[in-house]
Amino acid sequence: MQRFLDEIAEHARLSPEKGQVARYIPQLAKIDPDQFGICVSTADGACYVAGDADVPFSIQSVSKVFALAMALGHAGDSLWSRVGREPSGSAFDSIVLLEREQGVPRNPFINAGALVTTDSYLDMSAPKEALGGLLHFIRAAAGDDDIHINATVARSELATGHRNFAMAHYLASCDNLNNDVDKVLGTYCHQCAIEMSCRQLAMAGRFLIDAPGMPRLLSADRSRRIAALMMTCGHYDGSGDFAFRVGLPGKSGVGGGILVAAPGKASIAVWSPGLNQYGNSKLGTEAMEAFARMTGWSVFG
Ligand code: GLU
Repeated sequence: MQRFLDEIAEHARLSPEKGQVARYIPQLAKIDPDQFGICVSTADGACYVAGDADVPFSIQSVSKVFALAMALGHAGDSLWSRVGREPSGSAFDSIVLLEREQGVPRNPFINAGALVTTDSYLDMSAPKEALGGLLHFIRAAAGDDDIHINATVARSELATGHRNFAMAHYLASCDNLNNDVDKVLGTYCHQCAIEMSCRQLAMAGRFLIDAPGMPRLLSADRSRRIAALMMTCGHYDGSGDFAFRVGLPGKSGVGGGILVAAPGKASIAVWSPGLNQYGNSKLGTEAMEAFARMTGWSVFG
């Protein structure tokens, strides 16, 4: 495993094409694209790292996995009357389907769906407590208390997040938001601004890989279903491409992180800030494709 990761990190280091960092969030536009980290936390308790695996980065939409787990814990399956479970085939911040489908977002991993998820876990408490609950969940999953929100990144997104505000208002107009728009957006942007290293993220993802000794924060059924949604919807309109190339469930974020679950085997986190045309980490996707080839791991046998 260590040899695989060293080879993958070296390949990434030498790659001339690293993709474009996200520019629409001013704080993310400043990140050095020349970084790459990977961590594999295996079901037998070992942890393998290569590259910048201990550098914290903005997890952005990878947070939607943990937010969904928490919202399901609070609202149970009633959440599914407010958000669907189908791939959208459109960009992460696309607004078109919302009108066609009367304000019920296609899935919890596109932005519109994630706003509903955030709204749902906000029903239980004020934003500060709700975010505290989310951090508590992630820290418990990772077994690491040194995981925090970068408030500067959150403010930077809040100041420029016109599209997300538009979506939240549209959801509200369809009666699919219980809390007011500013509250939902403020919480959502802070949730996306959580920072973690690959090592922390791989450790936190272990609750998804149904294996003895892994943290059991949800029922096995629910974890499996979250992984199913990661497979079908975790990479926006690049989800089919990721499933084809990697064959494992993954969730990406515009900070360049990807969390991947190899059921029964390992939780994997990879990070490189440059993005491909779908807004998913370019080198991260290539690394996972190489990793799946080297290990032979795939949910398709
Ligand atoms: N905070 C980002 C947004 O809402 C997350 C998008 C992503 O990571 O895909 O635009």
